[in-house]
Amino acid sequence: MATKDATLPQFEATALDLIPKVASAARGTFRTHKTKKVQWRIVQLRKLYWAIEDFRPRLIAALMHDLHKSVFEAVLTEIDWLLKDCMFMIKHLNDFTKDEKLGSPAVPITYSMMNFRTRKEPLGAVLIIGPYNYPLQLLLAPLIGAIGAGCTAVLKPSELTTACAMVVKEMVETRLDRSAFAVVNGAIPETNALLAEKWDKIFFTGSDVVGKIVAKKAAETLTPVCLELGGKNPAFVTKNANLALAARRLLWGKTHNSGQVCMSQNYVLIDKQVVPAFTKFLKVAYKDMFPDGAKASPDLGRIVNARHFHRIKKMLDDTKGKIVMGGEVDEAELYIEPTAVLVNSTDDSMIKEESFGPIFALYPVNSLDEALNVAASVHRTPLSLYTFGSKSENERVLNEMTSGGATLNDSFFHGSVNTVPFGGVGDSGWGSYRGKASFDCFTHFRTIAETPSWADKILRVRYMPYDMSKMRLLARLTAPKPNFDRSGSIVRGFSYWVKLIFGLGASSAKGALFRWLLLLAVNYVLKASLAAR
Ligand code: NAD
Repeated sequence: MATKDATLPQFEATALDLIPKVASAARGTFRTHKTKKVQWRIVQLRKLYWAIEDFRPRLIAALMHDLHKSVFEAVLTEIDWLLKDCMFMIKHLNDFTKDEKLGSPAVPITYSMMNFRTRKEPLGAVLIIGPYNYPLQLLLAPLIGAIGAGCTAVLKPSELTTACAMVVKEMVETRLDRSAFAVVNGAIPETNALLAEKWDKIFFTGSDVVGKIVAKKAAETLTPVCLELGGKNPAFVTKNANLALAARRLLWGKTHNSGQVCMSQNYVLIDKQVVPAFTKFLKVAYKDMFPDGAKASPDLGRIVNARHFHRIKKMLDDTKGKIVMGGEVDEAELYIEPTAVLVNSTDDSMIKEESFGPIFALYPVNSLDEALNVAASVHRTPLSLYTFGSKSENERVLNEMTSGGATLNDSFFHGSVNTVPFGGVGDSGWGSYRGKASFDCFTHFRTIAETPSWADKILRVRYMPYDMSKMRLLARLTAPKPNFDRSGSIVRGFSYWVKLIFGLGASSAKGALFRWLLLLAVNYVLKASLAAR
């Protein structure tokens, strides 16, 4: 694929016969143990920080080339995002990597001399496969987690964002330790060649279709996977919502990165009564954001390529619904106008497909019950969910429908802070990352016990020949007694009441007063019953 901007490198796929060597180098370097040194990791993170800073102009140009991404979005959601990620990991790495002592309640007091602890170990050589919509953030943020955890890594950027893929390759391979980190460029054959290798973890961000291919392949070698998949996210708007705010915020969710955001709403389940008002507010918000029309805006991105342009356009062509905002498309510019379509069936193309573009459906409902039923029938475990209603309605939506993450009263804010854990659930993804979770994602939490030699006096009971009387003594010392009966009800014995009286509001003045009054009452009852005898 030709690169239009002459200052950017032409896309070049990695030779297939090189791929096993790249993977083998990543595995070999891990075995040298040099990545286990925390200082080595910090130096790599510092180098990555300055690489991103020094490559800033070329990265911005590449994002403009591939996605027509505005400088504002390029800086906010890709470049500065990653710089903040590097700084966070550098700042906290010494803490993250420290052994953690395991005490009560995990370790009962009777075993405390065994010095139980959790040691944080890098998983090994990892493969990171990225999608096209945030070609820097979604490839390099997992890398920051992998470096922090002490892994070696091979990256496979999306082949759809060609300029980004090539600039990232140059940046990573010229600035980081070449023996530990590499970038393989290419499409399906190259990814398949990578998947044929043995990895210690595969981190995949992309569609559920490819996610299944990756998970199947990984299962053959029992390789753990983190899957960050997509879409079909519902938004709920009830008649108690602030409609003007809901309209503006949901429109933002579909204009940012031209709606090519895994978290953006696919459809809005909206109370029938407020559809006209909401539509009016959508148009007002549109006019505020694009006073000269969306096409003329320097801020609105474009669809990544003709295939995706036609995929999105087909959803509009096939809909039986009514366009209530937008609707313009222009293939020459890969432009799709932010568009809302009023539909009346979940079989409509606007709801059945993941839009992953600036278009979304409005689906009128009679009640929140109906909205929840419709959402559950479309996708039981979406990546994200948004709810605009009263406090109790929002709580009900959260309670009755799961999702990877959720934002109340806004579009994807839960996914807008680089250090807050992010991930899907069920078929929208397995595992999470960002902030500390990025470190955890590539770390094995290894439990260590250390038995002192002198402890054999106590441990002798475990050796043959077994002695049941010692066994019973051990059980008395270590096995907690149930405070519940066979029906699952709490048994309120003497110890229950003692605990209740002395445990209630243990440290508060109100608790102390309550205990004092309770003791007075018990005293009074006892005296009264003695006097009555
Ligand atoms: P995709 O699944 O088509 O591609 C992702 C990666 O997989 C690319 O690197 C690609 O080269 C590779 N790939 C594609 N087909 C393959 C195959 N048959 N075998 C092996 N590898 C293959 O995804 P995309 O189009 O780049 O991104 C859009 C999708 O990603 C959407 O569904 C979106 O919701 C999802 N997404 C999810 C998140 C998240 O964090 N959960 C973030 C961004 C995008």
